[in-house]
Amino acid sequence: MSTTVSGVPGNHPFEEFRDEVALFVAKAIASGDACPAYGAILPLGLREKAMHWQRFCYEHRWAGVHWPREHGGMGLTTDHNVIWHEECAAADVAPYLNLQGLVLAGEAILRSGTESQRERFLRPTLRNNILWCQLFSEPGAGSDLAGLQSSAIRDGDRFILNGQKVWSSNAQMAQFGILMARTDFEQPKHKGITFFLLDMALDGVEVRPIKQMTGDSEFCEVFFSDVAIPSDAVLGDVNGGWAVAMAVLQDERGGAGASGVISLRRRLEKMIQGVGQVNSLQIDGLIRILNRGKALQSLMERRGGDAQIAPIAKLMNSELGYDEAQIDSSLHGAQSMLTSPSTEALLYSPGMRIAGGTSEIQRNIIGERLLGLPREPQVASD
Ligand SMILES: Cc1cc2nc3c(=O)[nH]c(=O)nc-3n(C[C@H](O)[C@H](O)[C@H](O)COP(=O)(O)OP(=O)(O)OC[C@H]3O[C@@H](n4cnc5c(N)ncnc54)[C@H](O)[C@@H]3O)c2cc1C
Repeated sequence: MSTTVSGVPGNHPFEEFRDEVALFVAKAIASGDACPAYGAILPLGLREKAMHWQRFCYEHRWAGVHWPREHGGMGLTTDHNVIWHEECAAADVAPYLNLQGLVLAGEAILRSGTESQRERFLRPTLRNNILWCQLFSEPGAGSDLAGLQSSAIRDGDRFILNGQKVWSSNAQMAQFGILMARTDFEQPKHKGITFFLLDMALDGVEVRPIKQMTGDSEFCEVFFSDVAIPSDAVLGDVNGGWAVAMAVLQDERGGAGASGVISLRRRLEKMIQGVGQVNSLQIDGLIRILNRGKALQSLMERRGGDAQIAPIAKLMNSELGYDEAQIDSSLHGAQSMLTSPSTEALLYSPGMRIAGGTSEIQRNIIGERLLGLPREPQVASD
């Protein structure tokens, strides 16, 4: 298959581009090259299929839609990228290998990387020679991320890293991680943090998978013992990592609502197949979910690129996924607690209200920053 986009940015009327994406994806499904959609985190069971699909997209020049052509991308716009995501969602196909690499690390390097960092990381990420994980959360620093205590102390032209991260999705497969560590303990807590591109193969990095209630181990604990990080692994400025990370979190949260609801109607239809009689309460619940999905989709269509929308999209999307799983399990009755098509989602969906910032934290952000409500009391001032 050799469907390629030959033009330069701006040369693609959106509908024409949409048709090209749909054709490429349909052919890849027919040839068995596409990987089914799975969300932000690469499940272990789909690893080979997903790696093949990412490589296939790269080789056919369909990876990194809005990334520069000199780094292996297609050189188009973020609007084209939204169309890529929408068409993948409509076809129930994964839009990328994992969010941590193709969105979080990739966009951060595009924004804040030096030319040599872009050269070193972007193309291998698109080609899937580098799989990324995100090393932000710690046992004592999740919602209060700026409270992180992992330390990276400068020692000549390197930093010596010690500490622990947790809930690091895909870390057991990753070659690199985006890492935040404290480089100056004298500074106020948001200021003494540096952002690193960490080589997971360095001596002193130990990854221990965590068993989830779904039975899978998608995330891990990661321990650091005197890891020597070269100084060219710093992304952005030393002690300036908080700003780099905030943009990453915005990408993580803003992307949440973009295309997840496109296949909602299909998922709801699938839900009611084979469950026998559906009562009026359940129909009411299904309609409510469909309407919330449509509201989220409309919001994203109107204001998707607006940074202020990120916490709203994240909140709406994770709560929708949770309620969708609840109604699905109610359709399957007690069997959903054991083994039914709804069991996995029932067990997985509570995690989505936590990953990328909890629903409570999104509500705080919306209240304080968007609506201008009084800030909640701060325990420690910074
Ligand atoms: C499936 C999954 C994947 C993840 N993947 C990654 C990853 O790849 N990399 C990574 O770094 N992290 C990852 N995480 C971690 C995630 O970002 C954190 O779990 C999350 O930010 C919450 O932090 P915490 O677990 O420390 O909970 P805490 O911050 O301890 O919060 C505990 C509870 O208190 C509530 N709470 C805390 N502060 C407030 C407040 N001010 N107001 C109101 N309520 C509050 C929270 O909402 C929550 O209910 C993942 C988590 C999950 C579930």
